[in-house]
Amino acid sequence: MATETLGFQTEAKQLLHLMIHALYSNREIFLRELISNASDAIDKLRFDALSDAALVADDPDFKIRVEFDADAKTITVADNGVGMTREELIANLGTIAKSGTAEFLDRLTGEAQRDAQLIGQFGVGFYSAFMVADEVAVETKRAGAEAGTRWTSKGEDEFTVEDAPDAPRGARVTLKLKGDAHEFADAFRLRQIVRKYSDHIGVPVVMAGEGEGDDAAEEETVNAATALWTRSRSEVEDDEYKAFYKHVSHDYEEPLCWSHNRVEGKHEYTSLIYVPQRAQFDLWNRESPRGLKLYVQRVFIMDDAEQFLPLYLRFVRGVVDSNDLPLNISRETLQDNPSVTTMRNALTKRVLDMLGKLDADDYGKFWDEFGQAMKEGVAEDFGNRDAIMKLLRFTSTAGDSDAQRVSLADYAGRMQEGQEHIYYIVADSPAAARGSPHLEALKERGIEALLLTDRIDEWFMSFVHEFDGKPLKDASRGDLKLAEDADEKDEDAPAPDDDALCKRIADALGERAESVRRSTRLTDSPACLVLAEGDVSEQMRRIMAVAGQAPPESKPRFEINPAHPLVEKLDNEPDEDRFADFANALFDQASLAEGRPLADAAGYVRRIQRLLLGAAT
Ligand code: ADP
Repeated sequence: MATETLGFQTEAKQLLHLMIHALYSNREIFLRELISNASDAIDKLRFDALSDAALVADDPDFKIRVEFDADAKTITVADNGVGMTREELIANLGTIAKSGTAEFLDRLTGEAQRDAQLIGQFGVGFYSAFMVADEVAVETKRAGAEAGTRWTSKGEDEFTVEDAPDAPRGARVTLKLKGDAHEFADAFRLRQIVRKYSDHIGVPVVMAGEGEGDDAAEEETVNAATALWTRSRSEVEDDEYKAFYKHVSHDYEEPLCWSHNRVEGKHEYTSLIYVPQRAQFDLWNRESPRGLKLYVQRVFIMDDAEQFLPLYLRFVRGVVDSNDLPLNISRETLQDNPSVTTMRNALTKRVLDMLGKLDADDYGKFWDEFGQAMKEGVAEDFGNRDAIMKLLRFTSTAGDSDAQRVSLADYAGRMQEGQEHIYYIVADSPAAARGSPHLEALKERGIEALLLTDRIDEWFMSFVHEFDGKPLKDASRGDLKLAEDADEKDEDAPAPDDDALCKRIADALGERAESVRRSTRLTDSPACLVLAEGDVSEQMRRIMAVAGQAPPESKPRFEINPAHPLVEKLDNEPDEDRFADFANALFDQASLAEGRPLADAAGYVRRIQRLLLGAAT
């Protein structure tokens, strides 16, 4: 076939540009990435060979070879794995197929340090070779194919593919080192990097022996070459766990925590699961690949096996190696396999358990990154709801700053004598929540309230009814009967229908309010709006509007604070027109205070102008 020169896809170009021009720190990880790809390619071929042994017959000893030429300043990483066809080569090394890549690249700023971290979450992969090389060649032959293909690029706009009739099975990646990266063409340095990052890979990484004369030709295995999870926990160092995490996750950073377990009995399997420090770039895209690497009896079966964890735990990375699943299991058959369900339940508990054991500092970091996912869990995972509820954290009026978080158990532990509910309020921001008129009476009595400000809070709270036998209550809805005033105030206050002021206001508001009442919530504000327990909130209305749904009609109750000077003034207003302007203006202001849009802003402005003019005369 002819030699072709092709352009990189736009996203690939952008990423390459970064590799070449922006990333200078920690460049040695290029070797980890290439070895990681080689090991994946060998895993894939081992799997294919289960059904077609002929694929590996000519070269059955799987290995990855690292070579260098100190004079020519080149490094080669060669594997005898599955290799690529010409089409695969063009697709895999010319485009980036990850969903959300374009949005991800938009988030990069050109600021090297920040971008380097972001790229870490994205996973740099093969293109990282261009951090140290100004020219990269890949010679590859797909297992079972007749002939191979050669790919070359200087990492700028384009790459070339041509026939490589003599290429052996697998892939051979050769880097021509940049002037400032010659240091890597050195036996000591390369061995050190291999041990540091690739010790735990189940495939031998070999290099030419260091001895003189005859010995020099002998190959030596540089890494430990046993799959890390097959070793016993006591034999594995923390650094090894961390290095293995980087291999499975393609993350630059270290994991936050991990859990390594061997389960024996009815089902036999080993799992090694990690929680990252940072949310993956595509975590909130529910379509993105997720899940664990699945092995059966140490043979790699598939990446992103999503059946082993529920959707909300999609940030977890790691490996599960089963002894009893059939080797020919597929994505489809995984779904209805009863032992998979058992493993999924056990792994879910293990993750929740691991999170529960983190110290406050680490858990705080976790919550900042993945708290939203845990909230999804409350809605999705009924069976573990109690465990997840314990893991929830909230900003609270008990804390001095928004960054300070409390758990439901913290709250329950300091509830007041006679306090029946756990109070919360949903608002757009912590500042809006703290300033809400609905919290005034709670504040006056020193009762804590949780401040919920995530976009999904309203939705997720509809799944949270109680904690430890204590019902949760939205402080902005329905009646707020606080322990001590439940008896007194209700007796004193006239029933809404008998209250002359309330009636007069209700007439002035007409259709705008469901009813008008004297409030037990307010101390400082003149008035507020109160929704019934089941009404759709302002936040939910906006979500529905964005989704193109029409929210149902609902009218709030208007509550007034009779002790407030403005309400007293209102009560003393003899002129009915001015009374109506005044009452409606208070209603509008209560709306504004809660961040609701005014249905008739022009009307509001006119009313205020009339009142101001009246005041001036
Ligand atoms: P990732 O490994 O995250 O998918 P890479 O950019 O590192 O991304 O690689 C892109 C794809 O190229 C891989 O998914 C794989 O299909 C293919 N590939 C890379 N290296 C090799 C190799 N040594 N042998 C076979 N295929 C490879």
